[in-house]
Amino acid sequence: MEISVIIPVYNEEDNIHMLHKRLSEVMQQLEVSYELVFVNDGSQDNSIALIKALSKQHPEVRYIDFSRNFGHQIAVTAGLDKTSGNAVVIIDADLQDPPELIIEMYQKMQEGYQVVYAKRKKRSGESWFKLWTAKVFYRLLSRITSISIPVDTGDFRIMDQKIVEILREMPEKNKYLRGQISWIGFNQTYIEYDRQQRNSGETGYTVSKMLRFALDGITGFSDFPLKVVTYFGFIVSLFASFVMLYALYARFISQDYQPGWASLMVVILFIGGVQMIAIGIIGEYLSRMNTNIRNRPLYIVRDTNLDHED
Ligand code: UDP
Ligand code: MG
Repeated sequence: MEISVIIPVYNEEDNIHMLHKRLSEVMQQLEVSYELVFVNDGSQDNSIALIKALSKQHPEVRYIDFSRNFGHQIAVTAGLDKTSGNAVVIIDADLQDPPELIIEMYQKMQEGYQVVYAKRKKRSGESWFKLWTAKVFYRLLSRITSISIPVDTGDFRIMDQKIVEILREMPEKNKYLRGQISWIGFNQTYIEYDRQQRNSGETGYTVSKMLRFALDGITGFSDFPLKVVTYFGFIVSLFASFVMLYALYARFISQDYQPGWASLMVVILFIGGVQMIAIGIIGEYLSRMNTNIRNRPLYIVRDTNLDHED
């Protein structure tokens, strides 16, 4: 097998046929042996029935059907666990990532790169909220991590089987694949593209999924928030110790003190808020440690036609 394509699918019934058609054309143009691995991430629509029907007509169509919705990164991970191609492509099912770009990515890979990712120049058809939060997030993340995670890049990419093998060995449960791939290193490069509108349907990434994903990226690759809390703790304590000295001085030496309700409230509320934030940040790290310690399987497969085990 030369190329394996991994396609996470969550409620994409109106996109599957078009995607299959365009991917097949690309693969025929490349003249390589290939498989298309659809991972159905607990869709509530007809997606899995369509995929199974396709797989009956086309032997290169493989599927992994989850028992429920486990999330986009986990769906891709399941695909990575089972693919055997020399090169592995990750692509969205909604045609926001044009399949035709795979040709250029594959050719670039032949120049001696292990990873070729697709960097978004423009993104059409997405809300200003999504564009703005994504922009700020990617820049923040690249500032606070020690590795360089490329900005404005999703998971659309092609990579060598060697990279996939290393990814399988990485034990973390909270996956942030684009960061993990940067962390692995080797020769990585990119091509630029204009991200398209969704062909049909609506985004499966709700705000809460986006937030969790962003926190997975930060906590997985940076201890900066914890350090900020520590520094802040020192600064506040330093300030507090001066105020304490002054309070003692006012009480015992100058004897010039007021029953100071307002100042007391301000200090208590401020310290209370800071402590709350600090505990919350620690909690984010702790809950992820907890997930790793529980060590549950990442996903449950209901049904698959992929038999080669790793
Ligand atoms: N997806 C998934 N599980 C989810 C949400 C999304 O497998 O819980 C898939 C979805 O079908 C698509 C890809 O992940 O192929 C990207 O999702 P989406 O297009 O909804 O996100 P957006 O492009 O809006 O960020
Ligand atoms: Mg999309």
